[in-house]
Amino acid sequence: MAERPYIVGNWKMNGTRAMLSEARAIDRAAQRYMKVEVAVAPPYTLIHAVHKEAEQIGVGAQDCHAGPEGAHTGDINAPMVADAGAKFVILGHSERRQDHAETNDCINAKIESAIDAGLRVILCCGETLETRDAGKAEEFVLGQLKAALPKFEDPAERLTVAYEPIWAIGTGRTATADDIAAMHGAIRQLLVDTYGEEASAMVRILYGGSVKPENAREILATPEVGGALVGGASLSAESFLGIVVGASESDES
Ligand code: PEP
Repeated sequence: MAERPYIVGNWKMNGTRAMLSEARAIDRAAQRYMKVEVAVAPPYTLIHAVHKEAEQIGVGAQDCHAGPEGAHTGDINAPMVADAGAKFVILGHSERRQDHAETNDCINAKIESAIDAGLRVILCCGETLETRDAGKAEEFVLGQLKAALPKFEDPAERLTVAYEPIWAIGTGRTATADDIAAMHGAIRQLLVDTYGEEASAMVRILYGGSVKPENAREILATPEVGGALVGGASLSAESFLGIVVGASESDES
């Protein structure tokens, strides 16, 4: 990995205040692995509490509404998550696309609002097994990104892309290193075409889908993999930190 690896935990709809001890343990241990950038995205209800605990790790949100404040019962917008202490937001996760029918246009609007609120964005993309078996995975994923990528000039500080094949999320299956390298290479080329060689060079492309301590080192050593977006294995400090250690070791190899 050329850049500082970025390991992000997505807690999804998990966690009450009892989980703050895990966040604290992750934060304290992350201070020993400064070459790895570590972050967690707890549910909205815990963002502020995790932010107060965190000395080293970044704290983010798992989504935000694209609009300004107003009559949207149950929604939370980008300035609100920033005010709670979030520094980034995950957008376009396949579970949001499926459960809430989010389109690429809606995700693009969320990205614009997040950037305006000073948040960094982790933009997710990924294909179903059906699409992969039809030989259309690359076309599909690049199509998602082309439609959602924001048109700004300096993406390095603000944008991270996460490739998460849907069939690998929470299933225990991971893509092969060759498949990951091929998809990440295609995404890298799209970033170069969109933002130029220099501006896109520092945009990290994370892999997500059943990353765990046992497979992290190999996945993170794959060309163009700049880190991992981790769901299930981020819910315990022990397994999440196993991935952080894997990232620090693959960075040395
Ligand atoms: C995710 O949903 O972002 C994810 C990668 O989940 P898991 O690690 O559990 O597959």
